[in-house]
Amino acid sequence: MNAGEVFGTLSEKIKDVRRDECMAAHTSFKVGGCADILVMPGSTDEVRYVLNIARQLDVPLFVMGRGTNLLVTSKGIRGIVMKLADNFSGVEFDGTCVTVKSGTPLAVLVLKAMDHSLGGAEFLGGIPGTLGGAVCMNAGAYGSEIGDFVEEVYAATWAGEVTLSRSEMDFGYRHSILSDTPLIVTGARLKLVACCRDESKDKLCGLNEKRRAKQPLEYPSAGSTFKRPEGGYAGTMIEQAGLKGVCVGGAAVSEKHAGFVINTGCATPEDIISLIEKVQQHVFEHCGVMLEPEVRIVGQR
Ligand SMILES: Cc1cc2nc3c(=O)[nH]c(=O)nc-3n(C[C@H](O)[C@H](O)[C@H](O)COP(=O)(O)OP(=O)(O)OC[C@H]3O[C@@H](n4cnc5c(N)ncnc54)[C@H](O)[C@@H]3O)c2cc1C
Repeated sequence: MNAGEVFGTLSEKIKDVRRDECMAAHTSFKVGGCADILVMPGSTDEVRYVLNIARQLDVPLFVMGRGTNLLVTSKGIRGIVMKLADNFSGVEFDGTCVTVKSGTPLAVLVLKAMDHSLGGAEFLGGIPGTLGGAVCMNAGAYGSEIGDFVEEVYAATWAGEVTLSRSEMDFGYRHSILSDTPLIVTGARLKLVACCRDESKDKLCGLNEKRRAKQPLEYPSAGSTFKRPEGGYAGTMIEQAGLKGVCVGGAAVSEKHAGFVINTGCATPEDIISLIEKVQQHVFEHCGVMLEPEVRIVGQR
């Protein structure tokens, strides 16, 4: 890849394009090497422009939201990283439905819905990602998932735009069709429920308080490191295997919630990966369950 050529071509149409951008600044783990090119489009046209350039110049493309479920390796990401976050944010209400652009933070969606006396999605308010990341991951908490509220998902390809229904999205536990199909979500239409604003606010505050009490939000992390295994909780299994507080370099299993691997301040991506592997191995030896990471590891190994 000729990074100069890719940068120049993208910059012809898009304002926010960066070269050799350190991904630690774009992920909640606050670690990671550089992306060759980071581009932050502001419209669907710009998204499609990026897709076309990546295709024409045969450059690999990775899409991200706020990087709250990503671990980028030290060697970084080759090719183009397209970040759909603040530049690609907005919500529009229509009765009990809301059309949300993919870069919209979930907390913003929930607060704006509340202003329109719409609720049901308060469980999303404490998840630090974007609508696009949440749809891709089928993010959820406290017994609900975003997929339950999705009417349609809008996605871009280099050739055009497509609309996917909820059933076409194939939502499952932390899974959607986007886990296997490289589509770029540009937005989604959700159906919420009419509610009393104050009740919705109390619910949100209660859930966020619960998070603060149980989760190590004071440290960089990507939330729950592992998916919930069948028949139990990853955090409980990790604790029972005696791994609370175990460290590799600057990465640690949180003392507050064993399901979180945290960056204590000086972790490298490889410390975090080694700790994830160590936890997997010890939990398997202890109770025969192989934990599957929920966090997505990206970049050159
Ligand atoms: C403190 C903390 C608490 C958390 N709590 C929860 C929780 O309760 N429940 C939960 O489910 N998760 C939780 N998470 C994880 C994370 O916030 C969610 O997975 C979130 O949905 C990721 O959104 P994102 O925008 O950060 O996506 P990213 O991390 O940037 O990307 C995640 C995945 O989505 C893909 N993706 C992102 N945007 C798009 C797009 N526009 N089109 C196509 N694919 C896209 C990426 O390629 C990647 O595979 C937590 C994380 C943290 C740090």
